[in-house]
Amino acid sequence: MAKEMTKIMVTGSAGQIGTELIKALRKKYDAPSVLATDIQPSETVDLPESGPFEFLDVTKKENIEAIVQKYRIDTIFHMAAILSATGEKKPRLAWDVNMTGTYNILEAAREHGMTRVFIPSSIAVFGPETPREHTPQETILRPKTMYGVTKVAGELLGNYYAERFGLDVRGCRFPGIISHEALPGGGTTDYAVAIFYEAVKNKKYSCFLKEDTRLPMMYMPDCLKAIFDLMEADSSRLKHHADFNVAAMSFTPGELAAEIKKHIPEFACEYKPDFRQTIAETWPMTIDDSAAKMEWRWQPDYDLAVMTKDMLSVLSVRWAEGRLNY
Ligand code: NAD
Repeated sequence: MAKEMTKIMVTGSAGQIGTELIKALRKKYDAPSVLATDIQPSETVDLPESGPFEFLDVTKKENIEAIVQKYRIDTIFHMAAILSATGEKKPRLAWDVNMTGTYNILEAAREHGMTRVFIPSSIAVFGPETPREHTPQETILRPKTMYGVTKVAGELLGNYYAERFGLDVRGCRFPGIISHEALPGGGTTDYAVAIFYEAVKNKKYSCFLKEDTRLPMMYMPDCLKAIFDLMEADSSRLKHHADFNVAAMSFTPGELAAEIKKHIPEFACEYKPDFRQTIAETWPMTIDDSAAKMEWRWQPDYDLAVMTKDMLSVLSVRWAEGRLNY
């Protein structure tokens, strides 16, 4: 993206990824040219202080229209969504936000001839009939959650807008994202964040997935790297649009607990699976991301050991300073 021409809008900017994406975008580009939007204020970043902020509900097309015109937006990072676990409790809300919201964003981008749109997808697009090991780029997409249904439709819609209208829509299928700023917003992989907070605070954790449930995961710096690398990739190299597989690491709750114990030997983890276990069992264990590697040179930096060390060191300092809000 050309630095001087960019007028960026981020939806869902108070969420787990949006919070850190806004900070990274405002560091990379001119802060006033990066508009943060959400239906709620951020708990961890003073969005209006660090750059422009507007309340925006993505299900309201006319509100998107007004903001896009007011700020002359040419690039959108569409992060607003209802995630898997919340989506199973409130399927109608997930449909409204994820489907109507995504359609509204794509329409606004098409009508205003925008340069580029990023729409994240998820490993939730896969289902029990999908091969669970080295899940291929092109494979069976029959998810069993409302979240997954909306993510498949979002990918197809993104690809449709790219091919039918020439809109430059890009996106990747993120695995569970691990981070230490904003807390996760109701996903099946949230345990992999909560476990760190509980380990630092209470030296024990009760996990809602079984000990041997292997899932793909990614540390936030790699998530941001994937977003920037894909958005800056030369379009002539891209054969895919809104549905790139991306991978960084895969582990089970038992393996993560063992890694944490290397730093906190007294840490104890128990396993009490709930409804999220059923969701996790329909998702891949490992992902084949060779298309992303080939088309935009995707390469993660963090594995389980390096991510664990970093998470614990950040959260331990925060705990010692009495700033661990959890
Ligand atoms: P999150 O739940 O932490 O944040 C989503 C944000 O969207 C929240 O701040 C919420 O207030 C906002 N929102 C909800 N309804 C809205 C509406 N009607 N209008 C505008 N904003 C609304 O989610 P996240 O983890 O930051 O996820 C961002 C994107 O990445 C989503 O598309 C999600 O599907 C995708 N993703 C996330 C993960 C993960 O592990 N976090 C994994 C795969 C894909």
